[in-house]
Amino acid sequence: MGDEIVILGSGGGRHHIRTQHRATGGILYKFNGIQAHIDPGPGATVRINQYNEDPGKTELFIVTHVHLDHFNDISAIIESSRESLHDKNYHYFKKGVLIITQDSLQYISDYHLNMLNKVIPFKAGDRFNYNGAEIIGTKVVHSPNIEGFGIRFNLRDYSIGFTSDTMVFDGFSEQFSGVNILILNLLRPDSVTCRRHLCTDEVIPYLNKIEPPLDGLIITHFGSFMDGPRSERNHVPSQVKKLKEQTNIRNIIAAEDGLKIKISDLVNM
Ligand SMILES: [Zn+2]
Ligand SMILES: [Zn+2]
Repeated sequence: MGDEIVILGSGGGRHHIRTQHRATGGILYKFNGIQAHIDPGPGATVRINQYNEDPGKTELFIVTHVHLDHFNDISAIIESSRESLHDKNYHYFKKGVLIITQDSLQYISDYHLNMLNKVIPFKAGDRFNYNGAEIIGTKVVHSPNIEGFGIRFNLRDYSIGFTSDTMVFDGFSEQFSGVNILILNLLRPDSVTCRRHLCTDEVIPYLNKIEPPLDGLIITHFGSFMDGPRSERNHVPSQVKKLKEQTNIRNIIAAEDGLKIKISDLVNM
């Protein structure tokens, strides 16, 4: 099984957009022989080349909400997913599926939307089958002004969830029940709370309520209080240590820019 996660950016929020102290290119998720790009923020095309990945292989595009660190490079990523845009008669080739919040669509040109085979406006609770995976929208509590969803892939051999940006809430744990690997957007360390995102101390009880226990947890999308312009030091290692001590999860990995993680290393199969 060659399924893999590639971190094209472990940073989240505007300070990392501005400084690129941590990159903001999103995540490549390779499953069942195809490539999905989730949340291509600023620099996604730069990072995909920098880390020797092939943008031409992407055929599933996912934008969980319209914030720039999730949305900004989507048009460039769609256009980069093919070597030729059109034939000699200027008939444009169609390729790929875009899963996206309804309210993001107005910011993508018809020119780029027409390059896709299918555009699927998506929200929590929606389901879509693609290439052997059942894809389910999960709930987020993030910005009151825009739509958003997390996403879960149920495959034959395992299940993986991506929280996207969210706070914790009643039902957070239950919607990831049966997930083997969770990709958690952990903007802030320890008890540094935020009304838009979660922090380590808040999320630990919710991680421990996921049944059965996760095989693997990947923390990513670190904000500026975690590591960067507004933090005295990189808090990521201490958060990994705390999560290992206070949860029942066997494998906990902190994302780094360019890190490639084999699914088979995390899942008991
Ligand atoms: Zn974000
Ligand atoms: Zn956001």
